[in-house]
Amino acid sequence: MLSTQTIHIEKTNNSRLPEVDFSNLEFGQTFSDHMFVSDFVNGEWQAPEIVPFQNFSLSPANPALHYGQAIFEGLKAYKNEDGEISIFRPQANLRRMNVSADRLCMPAFPEDVFMEGLKELLRLDADWIPTTTGSSLYIRPFMFATGEFLGVKPSDTYRFAIITCPVNAYYSMPLRVKVEETFARSVEGGFGFAKAAGNYAGSLYPAKKAAEEGYHQLLWTDGKTHEYFEESGTMNLMFIINDRLITPALSTSILAGVTRDTIIQIAKDHGLPVEERKVSVAEVMEAAQNGTLQEAFGCGTAAVISHIQTIGFRGTDFELPPIDLRKYSPRLAQELNDIRVGKKADTHGWVVKV
Ligand code: PMP
Repeated sequence: MLSTQTIHIEKTNNSRLPEVDFSNLEFGQTFSDHMFVSDFVNGEWQAPEIVPFQNFSLSPANPALHYGQAIFEGLKAYKNEDGEISIFRPQANLRRMNVSADRLCMPAFPEDVFMEGLKELLRLDADWIPTTTGSSLYIRPFMFATGEFLGVKPSDTYRFAIITCPVNAYYSMPLRVKVEETFARSVEGGFGFAKAAGNYAGSLYPAKKAAEEGYHQLLWTDGKTHEYFEESGTMNLMFIINDRLITPALSTSILAGVTRDTIIQIAKDHGLPVEERKVSVAEVMEAAQNGTLQEAFGCGTAAVISHIQTIGFRGTDFELPPIDLRKYSPRLAQELNDIRVGKKADTHGWVVKV
């Protein structure tokens, strides 16, 4: 039976830490020494372990490989100059992971074991958390089927694991994005609201096409009519029009971003009107032409905010106001970052100390 008291820890004898150049980290390429692992067998999660980062051994008939029964999460931890470690909104990520798990017929992972396991992992790999401004430890929880069969049905067994990567400050170039009216990232009734591996595999081809046309990312529109905006690449999408923050309302085809939720709350705290609703392509393109579209940006854990500079729509590029003239999004991003690293009061209880 699973309990938070029983995390078995096997420390590495061979830390890779001395080999790491912390000033030059490519995102997602460097992994810390340890990982958290728990297996779901016989209808329950088994005693979790923290072990040296290492390869898994899988059956060639693993259903995650064949049918994509696999989900993941992404969040960050920080260390201040006094060596104190904090995690930003980890329960929100675990809650979303369990929503994803439910949609993919996978078992929920218990929050208390997740929190204890994650804190223990961070304590053990504390030296892997960078302290330079803007840097952090990216945390990747994931879960996948571990059955050994061919056949489209839920697996009886699963593995839940957490790996972590030190990452430098992520500065996103102002983006050139293209309104995608042919392909869809997901559809109403599908599983776009889940952070499921398959959603990302399906987005690679349209993103590659857009890159060939000189765009960094796609502005995804709804899969049925392509008349309404959904997301920007792997971020949620926000606009400032007439001094109001406007963002597509959540649906079964949109991922409920933790950053999205956080920015909406910060905007409301500052009295910026927020509209969560259907946002039509026609409305935004008209605002871009009549000068009322003040700002557009993607938001997500990696970059917090990625400013959109150019929107490509049906062969024409529409330029948005210069980034340095933008009034709202740089301030929202700054405030969020300040709360994350403890420079500003955490009035919403978002920061979890380790
Ligand atoms: N949408 C998609 C499709 C994403 O992959 C992400 C990144 N997790 C987001 C939005 C932003 O979510 P979050 O703010 O929780 O990182």
